[in-house]
Amino acid sequence: MREVTETELRRCFVNATRQELEQLPLPGLHEMIWDEREYLGWRDPRSPRLGYVVHWRGDELVGLVVRAAPGGLRPGIAAMCALCHSTQPATQVRMFSARLAGLEGDTGSTIGTYICDALDCSHIIRTGPPHLLTADRLASRSEALLGRVTRFTARVERAIRDA
Ligand SMILES: [Zn+2]
Repeated sequence: MREVTETELRRCFVNATRQELEQLPLPGLHEMIWDEREYLGWRDPRSPRLGYVVHWRGDELVGLVVRAAPGGLRPGIAAMCALCHSTQPATQVRMFSARLAGLEGDTGSTIGTYICDALDCSHIIRTGPPHLLTADRLASRSEALLGRVTRFTARVERAIRDA
């Protein structure tokens, strides 16, 4: 993905409350390897249930605040991330929900999906046995991941508009 600035990041969230924006923990933008990312995802070190998913749609930066479901999937089974389609131990995949309104105190509806627990799909698809990481395979996984994250944020935005 193209590099993002702190200012762009602070403006991009479609469903953040004012308080969430004020307390937004920024990821280390200077250490980021942008070429190896389809989206920027990070968890909030102070509010362990909060996470952030940001990507470019053309020239527009789109961001979602997501909330991890309490508990998790049953350990011992395998689960698949809906964004990168990696199958992982269930403890490393979690249900995240995006609130459909940015209003303070709103407890309305959400849209959820299963995502890698650390919101690090870009890293996950680049990890694994070398024969599964050929340039061709990586390019197609990368494109598919970007397509799925783009559809997820678009679905949330549409629902916000229609709400
Ligand atoms: Zn994933």
